[in-house]
Amino acid sequence: MTVVTRFAPSPTGFLHIGGARTALFNWLFARHHKGVYRLRIEDTDRARSTDAAATAILDGLSWLGLDWDGEVVFQFARAQRHAEVAHDLLAQGKAYRCYCAPAELEEMRARAKAEGRPMRYDGRWRERDPKDAPSGVPPVIRMKAPLDGETAIVDRVQGKVTVANAQLDDMVLLRADGTPTYMHSVVVDDHDMGITHVIRGDDHLNNAFRQTQLYRACGWDVPEFAHIPLIHGADGAKLSKRHGALGVEAYRDMGYLPQALRNYLLRLGWSHGDDETISTAQAIEWFDLGHVGRGAARFDLVKLDSLNGHYIRESDDRDLAREVAARLTVKLGRDVTAAEIERLTRGMKGLKPRAKTLKELADNAEIYVHRLPVTDKAAAILSGDARARLGRLADRLGELTDWSESAIDAAARALVEAEAIKLGDLAQPLRAALTGTTVSPGVFEMAAALGRAECLARLTAVAASR
Ligand code: GLU
Repeated sequence: MTVVTRFAPSPTGFLHIGGARTALFNWLFARHHKGVYRLRIEDTDRARSTDAAATAILDGLSWLGLDWDGEVVFQFARAQRHAEVAHDLLAQGKAYRCYCAPAELEEMRARAKAEGRPMRYDGRWRERDPKDAPSGVPPVIRMKAPLDGETAIVDRVQGKVTVANAQLDDMVLLRADGTPTYMHSVVVDDHDMGITHVIRGDDHLNNAFRQTQLYRACGWDVPEFAHIPLIHGADGAKLSKRHGALGVEAYRDMGYLPQALRNYLLRLGWSHGDDETISTAQAIEWFDLGHVGRGAARFDLVKLDSLNGHYIRESDDRDLAREVAARLTVKLGRDVTAAEIERLTRGMKGLKPRAKTLKELADNAEIYVHRLPVTDKAAAILSGDARARLGRLADRLGELTDWSESAIDAAARALVEAEAIKLGDLAQPLRAALTGTTVSPGVFEMAAALGRAECLARLTAVAASR
């Protein structure tokens, strides 16, 4: 059997972190089994669905690298097929028309409330002769659900979960205006798309019972279910914006790498021994539903930062330089030149061990694009003596044939010896002159990465200033 999974977001907002994890688990499960992973946009709620949200979801998934197979299915476009299935069930006597007036339903709801039990439609049109139908009242179509016995789901995460059929009423498949309900659409779509495994948040566990009844009424195979626990904040409360429940694009903007977010989301509710750093290739090899945790996962930005730092360190210097250049282009409002990208690339070795996000990396890398405004601390270091000494250093550096960190280091040390000063008396002004600040990666490494022309230009400009 080919495994077919799907991610079925409702386009009512961005792709949030919980949805991204659901997508990831479906993607990994399909890739692990060399199966198919599909995407369905559940846009049946016309009032709340927007094209902008659908686009944001597709963009978020693409950025995360969770590529789907085949065309995206838009649920609303399939409304006719949903109606057709409901009418089939009607023809087979497995569904019926219900002419209950809103007032009758209201009365049932009020009675249920007074008796302290959940509202259940009482099935009054189940066996009633349609000849009794009031004229001018458009009916809804309801499924004829089993009255006794129970419906059980053997959930791959939650285990066996059972509900007494008496607890469930005959759900509406088609509304009076002929539009399908969400519950009905999901089942028809999952069947038609050949979904074998429904992996989704456990807020949908209750839906699985009615959906199972509907599969059976249709005579279709019931897919395997895996309901994964929701994500909570580090404080144990349900995840909210306060905890970082943002859209994935917000994480992209903050400078998280997709591979870091994938690794992080994977560990959020799934484990492989004590492994924390798990590459995507490894994740595909290892992923299974048996190791999805049953407790709520806790969202923890500190862990995400540390994984992101790891993936930044692992990244190719040139790729990082391009990412950084794109960010600096926005920040500075001008293009970053090819020569600057070369400098950024050379600078990555010293910058990347210190950065947790691309934003931090870009901020720290700005010194390779231009000298920053001189801070007070840097200005204090750049005394007249220091500037004169930097002039003498520039002369020595100008003679170097090999522009490398070790050659620059040796030339600086030779000057330090000749002038009987301490290394810091030269290195600190050098840093201040080259960057305008007092913090940077190793100063000789940085001078080498800046390149001869840029380094000497910055140095002589400071040496010549009064
Ligand atoms: N559209 C639903 C949601 O966004 C998911 C439904 C399902 O996975 O069955 O929560």
